[in-house]
Parts: sequence; structure tokens; C-alpha cells
Amino acid sequence: MLQKMVKRTLIITTLFLSCSAMALVCISSYKSKNKGLKSEAPVSIPAPILKSYPKNFFVWPIKGTIDLAGNFGELRTNHFHSGVDIRTGEGKTGIPVYATGDGYIGRINISAKGYGKALYIIHPNGYTSVYGHLMSFAPTIGNYIEKEHYKRKAFEIETQPEANLIPVKKGDLIAYSGNTGGSAGPHLHFEIRDNETGDALNPLLFGLKLNDNVKPQINSITVYALDNTKRLETGTYRFSQYGRLGGSISNAQLNLAHGSYAFGASWVDHLRKGGFNMGIQYAKLFVNGQLVFEQKIEQIPFADWRLINCHLDHPVLEEKDLKIIKLFVDDGNTLNFYPTAINHGRVNIEDKKIYNIKLVIRDFPGHKDSINFTVKGNKTADANFPPERLFFKENPLYQKQLFYPNIQNEMELKAGNATVKIKIPKSVLYDTVMFRIGSNGKQINGNSVWDIMSSSIPVNDSFSIALKPEFPISNPEKYVIIRLTRGGTKKPEGGIWEDGYIKTKAKMLGQFYYDVDETAPVISGVKVKGRNFSGKVKDDLSGIKEIITTIDDEWILTDYEPKTDFISGKIPNFITTGKHGFKIKVTDTRGNSNEYSQTISL
Ligand SMILES: [Zn+2]
Repeated sequence: MLQKMVKRTLIITTLFLSCSAMALVCISSYKSKNKGLKSEAPVSIPAPILKSYPKNFFVWPIKGTIDLAGNFGELRTNHFHSGVDIRTGEGKTGIPVYATGDGYIGRINISAKGYGKALYIIHPNGYTSVYGHLMSFAPTIGNYIEKEHYKRKAFEIETQPEANLIPVKKGDLIAYSGNTGGSAGPHLHFEIRDNETGDALNPLLFGLKLNDNVKPQINSITVYALDNTKRLETGTYRFSQYGRLGGSISNAQLNLAHGSYAFGASWVDHLRKGGFNMGIQYAKLFVNGQLVFEQKIEQIPFADWRLINCHLDHPVLEEKDLKIIKLFVDDGNTLNFYPTAINHGRVNIEDKKIYNIKLVIRDFPGHKDSINFTVKGNKTADANFPPERLFFKENPLYQKQLFYPNIQNEMELKAGNATVKIKIPKSVLYDTVMFRIGSNGKQINGNSVWDIMSSSIPVNDSFSIALKPEFPISNPEKYVIIRLTRGGTKKPEGGIWEDGYIKTKAKMLGQFYYDVDETAPVISGVKVKGRNFSGKVKDDLSGIKEIITTIDDEWILTDYEPKTDFISGKIPNFITTGKHGFKIKVTDTRGNSNEYSQTISL
């Protein structure tokens, strides 16, 4: 067992060392001025809002035993999960969804992405409940929505019915569960929001009960060396990861150099054995018995949710698919999740002194796990600590420039006739970083792929990319900027032509190129059965912009599910019986379109 754990630690460390790359740290130019724990001044981190919540107002919106596929505060790509994902059975849709409390339908949002078909109930007690990824609606609500679709001649609509126009009572049937929008499988996304702040709150704070009999588990501890003179040059700091061994870690006593250090951890929780992974809302870090850092996730402000890229170690997540939660607060991290963060959770290690570290994590019902280890200050141990982690593939041909979070940064690269321009506004980067752009030698359809830094470096908002082609272009309106994901998936990022450049905004750094899309979307498998129709639509590159179904030129509502390419609809009763011209027209974002038509008999 011991050997196994040590071996695992070695493998992890070796992996990090073998990456000839660089990474951003969210910590900004922090200089260790601390003189030990006792003398630290309190830090200016937003105070958590302490509030009592009504315990008997809300009920679960699904009948029967509640099982979750995801919980509140769970760490997702670029955001914190703002509700609970209630399981609706293996692959099942169409499960009745009931109002969690009295109120009225205050908002309806129908989208091909995000929450898909979603309902919002405004309650008189100051909260709003949200129901996402729905399949369909109860008749009164469904009729209202259908009228809106036809009024606007659009599938994607957002509407806010007048107060009390569609009242609901606790337990009323409001909808049927589905898998619409950005859902990875059938479930109900359920959320409770504070009307005043718009923040999402943990529904369990309102007394909703769950069967949870599994205690959470800490899997590993990460130690970060924050004093790093090379940080501005490399954008990295050093760290080492230690696997769990019993109640401690594989190196129960760590010899660290003196200076500023911080800790991170990976952990896991389940509601039941073999169940889905859950996030942990509560954690406490003690040093020599003193609480130095506390995490408490009960309220998620939507405007800040990309700050998850600071809350956890983004480069490690991006490159290793491993979530390390930081037990310290970066300077750019304004989340109110940290009621205690003495010296931002950073610990000053002095020569020859011993530091007993204890981490305790807790799930909502109160099951706990903890881990203890010792750190010994050692002036001469510096060489034993792993060097800077490097995630970015270094290339001598890259153009480099220091980018700062507190200013707008611009960079231009000329390569032959081609030009790449990058503009990163103020407050989009989390930290100072040696930015790199350049060609990585790869070409797709004869077009160079550019490394715009690396997807390991997180951004808090969108930035601009402008690409000037290497050769004259006759059909610029057909060009689109594509981002290549780490797995090689092509993500269209749009693009408009201006001054000889194709320009767009993106929300992730990484590999970009442009390509031409002159291929129309494909329409296949169209079936009309009675008044129901269905089929598939697919675009090869730039993405579908518009789907228009008509009967004798009359607009007909068409549901679109991009993740399965599926379209479907029901021909309404105002289309009379008899023969009609049925037509589907699909257009991509570059203006290529395709049509399907047939004569139908109703
Ligand atoms: Zn969800």
C-alpha cells in the first residue's frame, strides 16, 4: 500500500516535470512580507452573507426518492454548478415536474443551449425557483409559450409574463423533465435564487432533505511554493502533489524551504456508494491548531462564476483533468466563499520550525473527512522541491511579451504575409503572464494553426483575435475562425471582415485558425407523420444559424437540439386538412443554405 502511494506520487510529479510548458498562476505579484501567522493583518475578502432561510416553504419538484447527478457548488468548466441536478431515471424524460412552492411563472427561456427549455417561478418570500432542461410544459404554460413562439416566429425566446398572469400553487404540475439545451443526459436542473441579488443558493439550505450516507474523502494534498523569482518570466510557481496515506499523506513530514507556501487538495464525495461525484461546499485548514483558511460555498454570484478558474488550479484541470481546489485566495479572486483566509491562506514557513497542518472537509449533512501532515522549515531544502511547472509547449519561434491583468494588452505577430493580432482587455487575465503567440507548424486545409498562448491559461472574459490571411481572398464572407480544443474538436468562433482581417472574440485561449465554409448544412431523415415532423440537420464547420419550417409559406415552430442534430415539430391546427407544401430551410452562419421540400396531406 505504502509503495503504491509513493509510486503514484512519483508518477504525478514526473508528469508535471516532463511538461515543457508554462502555466498561469492566479496569484498576482505577491511578495512575501509576512512575518509568521500571528502577526498577519486581516485581508479584504468580501464577507460571506449570513442569513437564515425559510425551512418549510419549498418541496422537491420531483416525486419519490431524490437522487442527484450533481450538487450545488460543484466545479464545472468555467463555472460553479448553481443548482442541483435531480436524476429522472436512466435515460428517462417526461417525468412530471411540480412547483416547489406557491408563486407565479415569472420568466420562460427557450434556448437550444444552456438550460434548454426553462421555467422560473417567482415566490412571494423573495426567492425564485428555476427548472432547466425541460422536455415540455403543463397545458396552461405550454399554450402561453406556443403563442409567444408564433408571435415572434422564433424557437429561441425569452419572456417574462406579467406578475400573477400564470399563478402556481406548491405541488402543481408545471412541466415534464427532459434533456434539452446543454444537458449531458436526462435530468432536472433545479435552482433557487435570491430575488434581490440574483445569486444562486444551495437548495438544501431551505430544508430539502436528501439520503446521503457517504462521507467525503480527501485524495491528495498539493503544496505550492509561492516565493518564485522566476514567476514573471515563466508565469508559474512550483508545486508538489502528495497522495493520501491513511490519515496523512505519502510524505508525512515535508521538508520545505523557508518562505511563503500555500496548500491545495483534491477530494471527492458521493450521496451513495457508486453514485455520481458531488462537490464539497465546506473545508477548513488549520496550522498548529489555528484556523487559517475556510471555504464555504452557499451562494454563487452569477457575475463572478468564471472566478472558478482562480478557485481551483486551472492549468492542472485543463491538462490533467484533475481538480485541485486551492486552500488559499488569489489576489484577483473576489468570490465570497472564504469566511477565513488569514494572509490569504498563505503560510510563512520559517527555518527549523514545525507546522502541523490539518485539513477538514464536510458535506452538507455533516459527514467529515480529515488529513494531517507536518511541514518542517528547512533553509537548505530548496533544491528538493520540484522546479516550476511548465505547461506551455515552448517554441523558440514564439513571440513573447509580458501581459498584465490591470491594463489592456496588445500584441502583433507578422509571419510572412500573415499577421496575428491579439487584444486582451483589462481584468480579463487573472495574472501577469509571459504571453506567447506563434505558429506551431500545424496546418489545416493549408491554413496555419496559431498558438494564442495556451488553453491552460484561464481568462475571465472575452478577448479579440484578428487574423490577416497569407494570401488574397475572394470570398471573405465565407471565412470563419475556428478554435481547436485540446482533444482536437473544431469549435466555430464566428468572425467578421474588417480592414483585411477576419476578427472575432473568444473566451478561451489556445489554438486558432481560419477556414472557409462554402458547404451548405445537410438536412436528412425528414419524416412527416400526421401532424408530427422530425429530421436531422448538420453543418460541417461554421455552425447552424437558422432553421425555418414553412407550410405554404406559413412559419411553423421547429424544436432544435444541437447536441443530437435533431429537429422536430407539430403542425398546428390552424393549418387546415388537405394538401400542402412543406419546406425546411437551414442556413449556416456563413450564409450557406439548403432546403428540403415535399407535398404533404393532412
Ligand atoms: Zn444542472
